[in-house]
Amino acid sequence: MKYLLSLLILVFVSVGQTSTKCEAPAVSKAFADARAEVEKRMAVFSGKKSIAEKADALLSKLIAAKSPVIRSWMTTRGLDDKPEDEIVKEWRLYFAKNFALSNYPNDDKAINSEVESLVDGITLLYATPEFRKRTEGLFTRSKEAAVATIKSFKLPAEKSILERIGGIKLYWPQDLKTARAGTVPLEIIDWGIAYDPVANQINMGLNSLSYANDESYLAVFAHEIGHSFDSCRWGAFFTDAWPFEKIGQCLRSSASVGAKKRDDSRMGAMTKSGQISKELSVSMWKNPTCNKSQYPPIGVQADQLPESFADWFAAEVVDRLEGIDRSKVRTDLCETKTLIAGSSYPTNEMRLKRIYNASMASKCKI
Ligand SMILES: [Zn+2]
Repeated sequence: MKYLLSLLILVFVSVGQTSTKCEAPAVSKAFADARAEVEKRMAVFSGKKSIAEKADALLSKLIAAKSPVIRSWMTTRGLDDKPEDEIVKEWRLYFAKNFALSNYPNDDKAINSEVESLVDGITLLYATPEFRKRTEGLFTRSKEAAVATIKSFKLPAEKSILERIGGIKLYWPQDLKTARAGTVPLEIIDWGIAYDPVANQINMGLNSLSYANDESYLAVFAHEIGHSFDSCRWGAFFTDAWPFEKIGQCLRSSASVGAKKRDDSRMGAMTKSGQISKELSVSMWKNPTCNKSQYPPIGVQADQLPESFADWFAAEVVDRLEGIDRSKVRTDLCETKTLIAGSSYPTNEMRLKRIYNASMASKCKI
């Protein structure tokens, strides 16, 4: 009887545990307001004379040529039966984002200056002195813990990794015209917190406002710091062998996140047809865990090790932090998201369960 009772208690406790819901926190008001404001400004921007004229001219040309591209563009957006002015409005918005912003800077000075005033206005919306102060403080804390974490591993490459980490700074775009070379408008408007290996900086875009608590910022910064020496970047910035091979193998295993390998089956054909250059394919073969914008194409499996490793390192760093609420770490990952086919990320659920909240048994140990 005693045995049965304890068994019942055990069952009850474990049911209680599994039914604990992982809930993504509500979007912060500051972020929701900023996004709504950006949408408003994008609509105004797409109606500006210099942009609308070009958008309309391209639309007329495509319609006159009976372009299948424009037909499918309309169908996928449910615009087939919509009035003409609605279609034009949607098209202008699409053009503004995918041509005017994506091709900045181009040879049209009027468009360039519209893009600059739009983007600089958006930067002022989110990169406020208060937000900068708060996130700079959290970044410093995360970086200090990252340094202590690396020291605890006692790796032969410790000095060079610490040098790389020591140089990392947050990058706040202030003036698009004079921004760091390679900074593109969509990085600021569409992206959140992202590591740039060439500059060794962490870009702070509009979506950096989205995290609900300090714990998540600390973990996200540690994840980005992890990218400075992940399996892909290692080859470009360090000389000896990647010292986390064992962790890599563990992250690939089904006991952990089962990080998938890059599917290289299309590389030969794409190099032959000139879709990717010979140089790129050579560098891809040399760096089997790197993903580039040209390869793998959408739908073909990207390598999941760099993202899994950055998560693993972030979890190690967060473990060293005192006075934080562990249950709040990366609550943004509670959102069930459908990933694009071949994504470089394991699912949110796996990242949380098997890395951030991993039990001692499923944790990858150095
Ligand atoms: Zn990442």
